Amino acid sequence: MDQSQKNKLLKIAGEDLCFDYPMAKHTTFRVGGQAEAVYKANDLDTLKRVIAYLVAGHIPYVVVGKGSNLLVKDAGLKGVVILFRGALAALEEKRTEELTVLAGAGLGLDGLLNYCRNSGLGGLEFLAGIPGTVGGAIVMNSGAFGSEIGTRARDVHLIVPPGELVVMDRSQLEFSYRALCIEPGSVIVRVRFKFDRETEEIVAKRIADFLVRRKKRQPLEYPSAGSVFKNPPGDYAGRLIENAGLKGKRVGGAMISDKHCNFIVNTGGATAKDILELMRLARETVKRQAGIELEPEIRVMGK
Ligand SMILES: Cc1cc2nc3c(=O)[nH]c(=O)nc-3n(C[C@H](O)[C@H](O)[C@H](O)COP(=O)(O)OP(=O)(O)OC[C@H]3O[C@@H](n4cnc5c(N)ncnc54)[C@H](O)[C@@H]3O)c2cc1C
Repeated sequence: MDQSQKNKLLKIAGEDLCFDYPMAKHTTFRVGGQAEAVYKANDLDTLKRVIAYLVAGHIPYVVVGKGSNLLVKDAGLKGVVILFRGALAALEEKRTEELTVLAGAGLGLDGLLNYCRNSGLGGLEFLAGIPGTVGGAIVMNSGAFGSEIGTRARDVHLIVPPGELVVMDRSQLEFSYRALCIEPGSVIVRVRFKFDRETEEIVAKRIADFLVRRKKRQPLEYPSAGSVFKNPPGDYAGRLIENAGLKGKRVGGAMISDKHCNFIVNTGGATAKDILELMRLARETVKRQAGIELEPEIRVMGK
């Protein structure tokens, strides 16, 4: 962005805009260079105007939830990173009689599940421990233990370029393994979920059980972005990487976890370059030894 673009953006977004923001602070890998600008969106109208301005000026933008499925490269990101705050990160509407909840896209999954637990709403307990937001989890169709968030989404509200609010209902939502089909440049702002009526105790117990299972399997003591590669049909990326002899393999501060080989962990001082090098090594070795092409699940961004 040139200075005049920055000034115009400041006029629209005001004090919610800042420049040269270190993305390592905003990704669970704890790596990554600076974003040229970060806009902390609090209300829908200003968000729409910001997006319209960015689209018209061909300025790149991307929404970041908790950055728990992201690898930002060391030289950082051009354009604007959009983060959600305030009403865009809150529970907006609860229709208890029809068992639906409308959640702001920036709401943490932990916040959503706390509400479900306290209200006896069942169906999303398998998400317990996934450190993302509602928006990030919907875009990724996040899942665990054989279930995916997409099955519970009733409608998704998004801003599509050049800045129009659109509601996609159940019949228009195309979810697949770790993906939702949406127009490039779309920004999800709210999601309505449908639940089952349960007792508070049952929901609490299911959440606790899933958290125990997760803790047993995953190296939660280190920064990471969860599973690095998608599981290929009929197999597990972690098993293939372990069979390729890469368990515990290190490059700089990054390591292929010895607890779960589809996790790369930051053992301290890792760079994005270290993580990318381990990813390259895992893909090449698995391809050579098992003939299988591993596809990244994490989103890699930046220069
Ligand atoms: C320890 C650990 C365990 C994990 N376990 C699991 C697991 O069991 N299952 C699983 O599926 N994932 C898992 N993950 C990965 C990750 O937590 C999920 O994919 C999560 O739902 C991503 O949410 P986020 O808000 O952090 O998204 P981000 O990482 O911030 O973003 C992910 C993608 O979504 C886009 N995006 C985010 N919000 C929006 C929005 N509002 N509108 C448009 N685009 C948006 C981003 O631009 C990016 O492309 C794990 C991660 C960690 C660190």
